[in-house]
Amino acid sequence: MSASLTIPFVNIYATLPSQFYSRAMPTPVANPALILFNHDLATELGIELNGKSNDELALLFSGNQLPDGADPLAMAYSGHQFGQLNPQLGDGRALLLGDVINRDGQRRDIQLKGAGRTPYSRGGDGRSPIGPVLREYVMCEAMHALGVPTTRALAAISSGEHVIREQREPGGVFTRVASSHIRVGTFQYFAVRRDIDGLRTLADHVLARHYPEINNQADDRYLQLFTAICHKQAELIANWMQLGFIHGVMNTDNMTVSGETIDYGPCAFMDTYKANTVYSYIDRNGRYAYQNQPAIGQWNLARLAETLLSLINDDEKTAIAQVTEVLQDFAVWQQQAWLQAMRKKLGLATEQETDQALIESLLSALTEAEMDYTLFFRRLCDLAENPDAADTKLGVLTLIQAPACSGSNDTAIEHWLDEWQARCQHETSSPKEQAIAMRAVNPAYIPRNHRVAEVIKAAEDNNDFEPFKRLLRILARPYAEQPEYSSYQLPPQPDEKVLRTFCGT
Ligand code: AMP
Ligand code: MG
Ligand code: MG
Repeated sequence: MSASLTIPFVNIYATLPSQFYSRAMPTPVANPALILFNHDLATELGIELNGKSNDELALLFSGNQLPDGADPLAMAYSGHQFGQLNPQLGDGRALLLGDVINRDGQRRDIQLKGAGRTPYSRGGDGRSPIGPVLREYVMCEAMHALGVPTTRALAAISSGEHVIREQREPGGVFTRVASSHIRVGTFQYFAVRRDIDGLRTLADHVLARHYPEINNQADDRYLQLFTAICHKQAELIANWMQLGFIHGVMNTDNMTVSGETIDYGPCAFMDTYKANTVYSYIDRNGRYAYQNQPAIGQWNLARLAETLLSLINDDEKTAIAQVTEVLQDFAVWQQQAWLQAMRKKLGLATEQETDQALIESLLSALTEAEMDYTLFFRRLCDLAENPDAADTKLGVLTLIQAPACSGSNDTAIEHWLDEWQARCQHETSSPKEQAIAMRAVNPAYIPRNHRVAEVIKAAEDNNDFEPFKRLLRILARPYAEQPEYSSYQLPPQPDEKVLRTFCGT
């Protein structure tokens, strides 16, 4: 059996100084089996399978065999975890196989997660249960299909071994693809060690890799780099907010400098709208609650700014003033990106001063009515298309869950619908055009918690991966009506509700 497949590895990270990483080899697993391989992504990456069987792919993407040209290493980083600085984190259960230049000329990292211990594993086993593997696969591919910058899933493997968590669980290995795995915490790693040369090398690497449009000879290139990272994060977080996504562990080691969403642990899409929603089991104080995400993003970026001060300006006071201004701008950019996205969700192509107030009154009406966030906007598309039909209005109103509001015809949401329809009179598009534009930004399908839980349970209990594959197929076209799967649009029944998600380490 020949296991050689062609992955056009370049491995630029391995050319950086040795303090950036530790070389480490995967630890073989007992009995690897392929759960799913993302052939479309493999093609984009320029990977040629050369007729490899699923068993051969399982050997390669479990770490049991190394693909030709791989140079596995664990990246070093630090990070603020729930506000506390941990100077020594790093890839404790991940190994970078290397990077490739994809079909579009962009660099992409290929990383195994759960392939065994590394020098950064601390007390951990370097492994992953199958649940978090499936969860990350579903969440990141859904985010990609929704149009949000994100790391991707290349492969999921079951290891044929058990891992010990609260109980014995089947193990798995996940292959993650990212434009890079460089985090805010990577900068902190060098800053806490006062390794200025390392910091400069890292900053130059990030400039060349992610922000080539910045002139690397410009005197203010590091301030420009910081500004560009803040821009990306402002857009990313605004995108999360408009979709009702809660990352759940926005530690500085889980925030990329590329602007991609990374580290899908206890993340979740909100069902019922409530600004202070928290799903993560470990987030006891709600630090990473839905509504806190913009402010936490800014806090994390302030930690990044601290690491860059000495590169930005020899005079520290001047550097602080410069980054402070950018951090203030971040809040404005985030707010503007969010407002723009919310206007689109409401089918508003024009701008009016009162739009922000209209959106805010909607959010308080949704809260009062305990409405499902995603389905509300999707039903609103129907109302936009048929503004005078009683049943389209009813389609919205039947989503009211709050006992105090249901049955009443004098709810905040009804008043709001009247206001919104009046506002729509100022739009030039026809109802049909407006509905089409709205359906392109308001998803019918999101990875709802109870559906994700359902596919994990089928895999764990019965080794049945069909529900997982079906959910992925549905989520690949989130904005299209798929009548045979309309039940996947629905919020959970009371007994299906998932109130807590686990980080899955
Ligand atoms: P996370 O909460 O996923 O961002 O992980 C925080 C840190 O813990 C990272 O350095 C991980 O590599 C490490 N880690 C998480 N789970 C494990 C594990 N099972 N074994 C070793 N290290 C782990
Ligand atoms: Mg992490
Ligand atoms: Mg994690």
